[in-house]
Order: sequence, then C-alpha cells, then structure tokens
Amino acid sequence: MNATLRHWLQRLEARIVDRQDSTSCLLLVEVTLPILLLLFALQSIGVRDDAVRALYNPKWLQPSLWFQGGLVIWLMGMGVLAWRRRRIPDRMPRLVQMTAVPAVLGVVVLALGYGLKDTPMAMVMLAQFVFTRALFSLRQLRWAFLLSLAAMVLDEVCTSLQVMPYAPLLVMPVYSGGALHPWWALWARVVFTAVSLPLSGVMFFLAATLNRHRRELETLVRTDMLTGLANRREFMTRLEREAHRQARSGRPLSVVLFDVDHFKRVNDTWGHPIGDEVLAKVGEILRFHTREQVDTAARYGGEEFVLLLPETDLTGAQHVAEKISARLREHAFAVDGQTFTVTQSVGIAQVVEGDTGWALKVADRNLYQAKRAGRDRIVASMAFAEEMGHA
Ligand code: GH3
Ligand code: MG
Ligand code: MG
Repeated sequence: MNATLRHWLQRLEARIVDRQDSTSCLLLVEVTLPILLLLFALQSIGVRDDAVRALYNPKWLQPSLWFQGGLVIWLMGMGVLAWRRRRIPDRMPRLVQMTAVPAVLGVVVLALGYGLKDTPMAMVMLAQFVFTRALFSLRQLRWAFLLSLAAMVLDEVCTSLQVMPYAPLLVMPVYSGGALHPWWALWARVVFTAVSLPLSGVMFFLAATLNRHRRELETLVRTDMLTGLANRREFMTRLEREAHRQARSGRPLSVVLFDVDHFKRVNDTWGHPIGDEVLAKVGEILRFHTREQVDTAARYGGEEFVLLLPETDLTGAQHVAEKISARLREHAFAVDGQTFTVTQSVGIAQVVEGDTGWALKVADRNLYQAKRAGRDRIVASMAFAEEMGHA
C-alpha cells in the first residue's frame, strides 16, 4: 500500500478510536462538506439551464440554495472551531451538538426535499448515519437522531395527509413513471457514485479496524505482560485441547512445572524490579528451549512456570527441563557491579488417558518433592490414575 495512504488511514483510525470530541467534529465536517458542496454545485449549475430549472419547485429553489449555503458556512465555522481545539482532549458537548445536529439533520432535510424513495439521497442519509455513529456515541447523537427521526415522520405524515407533496423541492419526483429525465439520470449517477464508493470504503475500513482491535485485545487477554509468555488462562485452554488429542491418539504428552527457588530472597535482597527481571529472563529461557508452534510455555503464577509438551514422553520432558535448568543456573544476573544466580525446582508428569487435571496434580506433587529434597532438581513420573487413591 502506498505510504501516504497508509499514513492517512492510520491517522483516521487513531481519530476514530480516540473519540476525542474536537477531532471527531473536525472529521465529520470534513466528510459532510464535500457532499453538501457537490449537491449545491449540481443544483446551481443545473438551474442555469431553463429546462432543468423547470424541474425544481420555484417556491423552494432559492430557499433551498440559501439553506445549503448556510449549512456549508455553519459547518465550516464548526470546522474552524474544532481545528483550533484539535489538540485539546476535553469533552466538548456543545461543539459536538452544534456540529452533529446540523450535519445530520441538514442532510436528512435535503434528502427528504429530493425524495427518499427514488433518489440516491437515501444512501447519502445512510452514509451520514453510519459515519456519525462511528465518530460519536449514541448518547452524543441522540438529538441529531431524534430530530432526524421526527423530520422523517413529519414528512411521512404530511405527504400521506397531502399537506405537502413527496419531494417538495421538485416539481415532480425524480422518477415519475416514464423514462428518467436526462438531468436526473446524470444527477442520480453522480450522487450515487460520490456516496456509495466512499461509504463502502468506510464500512470496510471500520470493519478492518474493529477486527484488528479485537485481535489485539485477544492477544492481551492470553498473554502474561511481564514475560510475554502465555498466561494461565491460555495455558488451561491449550491443556484442555491437548488432553482430547492425547486421549484420542495415545501419543505422549507431558506437563512440566517450574518454581524458582528462594525467589522471595531475590526480591528481598535485590528489590522487586530485579525480581521482575529474573522472571522475564526465565520466560526468555523457556521460550528459547521450546518449539514455537507445538509447545506451550506459560507463566502459571508468581514465580511458577509451566510447559505443555505434546508428542513428548517423560525422558524427552526431563531432557528439556534439564537444559532449561542448566541455562538458568549458569546465568549471572548483574546488579550494581555484583552478580547472583538463581535455580529452580521442577516437577514433571506424563499425561495418561487424557487426564491432564491429574497430571498437573502429579507434577505439582513432584515439584514439592524436588523442593523437599533440596531444590535445584527435577522429579518426574507418569500420572497413573490409580496412584494416591485417584480413580
Ligand atoms: P521456594 O524455594 O520454596 O519456592 O521459595 P520462594 O521464596 O521462591 O517461594 P515463595 O512462594 O515463598 O515466594 C514467592 C515470591 O515470589 C513471593 C512473591 O512476592 C514473589 N513474586 C510473585 N510474583 C512476582 C512478580 O511478578 N514479581 C516479583 N518480583 N516477585 C513476585
Ligand atoms: Mg511458588
Ligand atoms: Mg519459589
């Protein structure tokens, strides 16, 4: 994608996501003005021709031009106000109302003037609704939407009671049953294209923005902030999935629990931030020694970590754990010219018959035994169901 376009889209996205009142107002003005100017220009150019002028209701022709001109000037004024406050993040309820109400209601009134049913003005209106809704909350738009709804209902009532004709701005509706008048054929095409293409673009853009933000949130929900590893929730999800797979295939699956030894001392001696650095390093070592797409390395809690190793039996898991333990043992953490090292104890269990819950318990028991036997060691066993009275 072209760099300028990407830059522009990123700015647009930032403005939409920020929902800062001043920049939302500015953006609404920037989007509304071109379409108002287009309608204004088409009408002013068209009526220079007598045959086209005859299509417009003479009673409303001049007032409608005044209306459109006034609306354009008003919105430009709001645009200037919003531009001057574009760096101020405060709520600006009055600016929002003074921009959104005329921008939405103005477009609705024009659309009703041209007639909704047989012109692309219905789409202009829809585009305005979609775009303002993307920029503002429903609460902020309640007056704009309520007044627009009232205008539409009033129009409907007046036309049914024959107090006012359909499409009062025109002598006759754009589509009167016969072939389309050449002017309306041109006008409709221009307005339709000018609105439908940007509208589709905006819809795709909004959908893509939402998608990306949803994915970012999903990643955040699954990730441990300090180490960048999977968090406990994500680990449990994957454990469940691998459990089913193991029960079906009978292939080996192992869980490995790590607990940093005397970690409280690290915090007490060197301070909590250094403790955090140690944890980040453990995370880095775990990631380095596991297969990216296959294994799961997760932070299980405080200074406890866990590996889920599919297609790996006890011997294989022990091998991985030994490498990780050796790597951590050998790493010298440096603080203010002094260095220290840390070790960890490890409990391993190989899952039997898909019972991962039991395997976790056995791994935890093995970890506890490793601690009792003097720390900095590995205890591993199969997680047979009949053990310890578990059935
Ligand atoms: P043991 O060898 O028996 O495991 O002793 P230990 O000191 O490692 O175990 P204990 O459970 O007594 O202490 C764990 C400590 O880990 C206590 C807690 O303050 C610390 N801790 C937990 N989460 C974090 C963290 O995110 N950052 C830091 N710096 N410390 C943490
Ligand atoms: Mg612990
Ligand atoms: Mg510990």
